[in-house]
Amino acid sequence: MSTTTVRASQKAPGKAHREGISVLQMTELFATEQHAVDWFEAIHWPTGEIACLRCGSDDAYRVKSAKPMPYRCRTCRRYFSLKTGTAMEDSKLPLRMWAWAIYLELTSLKGVSSMKLHRDLGVRQATAWFMLHRIREAFAGIAPLFEGPVEVDETYVGGLERNKHRSKRQNLGRGPVGKTAVVGMKDRTTGQVVARVVPNTTACTLQGFVEEHRVPNAPVYTDGSTAYDGLPNREAVHHSVGEYVRDMVHTNGVESFWSMLKRAHKGVYHRLSPKHLQRYVDVFAGRQNIREWDTLAQMQHVVAAMVGRRLMYRDLIADTGQSSLAT
Ligand SMILES: [Zn+2]
Repeated sequence: MSTTTVRASQKAPGKAHREGISVLQMTELFATEQHAVDWFEAIHWPTGEIACLRCGSDDAYRVKSAKPMPYRCRTCRRYFSLKTGTAMEDSKLPLRMWAWAIYLELTSLKGVSSMKLHRDLGVRQATAWFMLHRIREAFAGIAPLFEGPVEVDETYVGGLERNKHRSKRQNLGRGPVGKTAVVGMKDRTTGQVVARVVPNTTACTLQGFVEEHRVPNAPVYTDGSTAYDGLPNREAVHHSVGEYVRDMVHTNGVESFWSMLKRAHKGVYHRLSPKHLQRYVDVFAGRQNIREWDTLAQMQHVVAAMVGRRLMYRDLIADTGQSSLAT
């Protein structure tokens, strides 16, 4: 897990409209493979100084013949490419195709399907599926720290009991049976969200989550759940007595995130185990967190975030189980 402090300045400042990119502009931006190489280089090395994508050393240089690879690091004494040490590692696909896949994924509301990517890019569907997982990896496992004020709330995600096959029903009464608990936090200042699949909603679990993602003592707003009792600098609205908003004390921001998450989840994924759900929640929150940025800035963010996220096919299969991922 990497820890990042999300700064307010990362939000497009005072922008009424984010700037998109048309398909025509994309074909011009990435007219040749060299255009793509220049674009990826500028993201990794904005000052023009080459740094190793494996060890980070800036004692690296361009290899004239580009053989066996375009760059070499004097510190770790190895050759590398623009894919080395990133989620694109070992991919034989041209960078141009990666840029297009990132574009298509970011510009589809719920993410692009591997079937569509397979048709649009002319790659095998299995290749498209793996590309999408590598791109989404850019949003996975981020552990942000919010300055607040923050809103915290929990929800339950999962199929309705009555829709499940009889053998899979748990018949344990009403309530969140067969569903997975997710706890989320939204920073009121930046609008950024972080959410985590949790095994239970005890005070220990929920307060642990809060303390992990707020700077110490940042103001926190919750509902009246006793699980948050004792949390420093917390104010609660008591839904049980019909109270939902008391001046600044409400959890409407994080609740609207839940409703978006559930709508999207229903539309795309029909069943996800808790493990798969965490990945989905990460990607959904990550996409939400950059939704107001210009498309090009979003694409650059994904490329930069893929560094250090080497994803092996066998790990991915073991981790997510291809069969239950509908896209
Ligand atoms: Zn190195």
